[in-house]
Amino acid sequence: MADNQPGNEKTPLESRLIDLIRLKGPITVEDFMTDALSHPHEGYYMSKPAIGVDGDFTTAPEISQIFGELIGLWLVDAWRMIGAPDDFNLIELGPGRGVLMEDILRAARIRSGFIDASKLWLVETSGRLRVDQQKRLRASEVKPNWVDDISMIPPAGSLVIANEFFDCLPIRQFICTDNGWRERLVGIDEKTQSLSFVHDTTPPPASYNLPAADTAEPGDIFEISFQAQEFMAQLAQMLRDNSGVALIVDYGHFHSGFGETLQAVRKHEFAPVLEAPGRADLTAHVDFEKLSAIAIDNGLAVYGPCAQGDFLERLGLNVRVEMLAKSKSAEQAKSIRDGAYRIAAPNQMGEVFKVMAITAPGIDAPAGFFDQ
Ligand code: SAH
Repeated sequence: MADNQPGNEKTPLESRLIDLIRLKGPITVEDFMTDALSHPHEGYYMSKPAIGVDGDFTTAPEISQIFGELIGLWLVDAWRMIGAPDDFNLIELGPGRGVLMEDILRAARIRSGFIDASKLWLVETSGRLRVDQQKRLRASEVKPNWVDDISMIPPAGSLVIANEFFDCLPIRQFICTDNGWRERLVGIDEKTQSLSFVHDTTPPPASYNLPAADTAEPGDIFEISFQAQEFMAQLAQMLRDNSGVALIVDYGHFHSGFGETLQAVRKHEFAPVLEAPGRADLTAHVDFEKLSAIAIDNGLAVYGPCAQGDFLERLGLNVRVEMLAKSKSAEQAKSIRDGAYRIAAPNQMGEVFKVMAITAPGIDAPAGFFDQ
């Protein structure tokens, strides 16, 4: 399609990236993803994040309030496990529109001590989403504090929740060629004058520890998120040094492996990854095996990952559904059951989404990870 056809205009970010690549050469997928999501003016999360049924993508707490309520009860139990301190940090990474935290705080009212003791920190880079979070949490007893990064949070025992946070941390991609691994980069297709994938000409450094090339087929892709790894190391050290527990929920795989998982989603449909940067959400599967190894290396205990559906059922999803549905109209009861089905059924979000907990040394096993 020619450039000047309607609907095919370049986004300002795409033109900017093309200029940059012309000047400096191809960029990594990580650099592309960073700009597409977090460019200060034109990144997706900075300019038009659209979460929810009417937006580009939706998440479990946006689908069913029960998701956040069960996690709220889980956090109350985790607070007890860390010794029910009078002051602790309640931290959410990437809180979106604030829906999950609203549901967590409502459920956590069951223990007023938890509410009184919590200092709430929302780790959020998007100014627009901070405004949404502020509006949604305005009436809650716990006043939020916003930070760009967890290093800005004063040390204290911490309970951390991250739903669909790690999947938006940028990745790098490596492709198996006849000459071994090469990094997959974003360059320019001169014919169409648009962004396109190219390969680096030299091999990646041995320190990246890519799998042996003879275990892969030509064309296989291996993804690494150095940013997710660094973030996990920082989080693990914070929990180890000050005590605490984190619950990480995301879509991803149990074991590191080959395959391309980078995807763009716009209006609930998949879109070509390099098209219209800044206008679509970009995510990649989380490598739970690697994150788990980093937590263990930093002295933490790891539980799971397990399938989201199993986790929610162990926490009492079905009981909660029936309790909520009991006092509602037939139509409302159906919508409650449908929401629960979507977040927990294996053919919906129940299996592709995984849940993993990491705990500081000396803390009991958290709820939800083993058949009880
Ligand atoms: N947890 C929410 C929203 C998930 S969308 C939910 O379940 O509905 C991802 C969230 O992470 C958004 O709030 C986005 O702005 C935020 N985010 C993305 N990259 C980030 C980063 N590097 N640091 C902090 N927040 C980030």
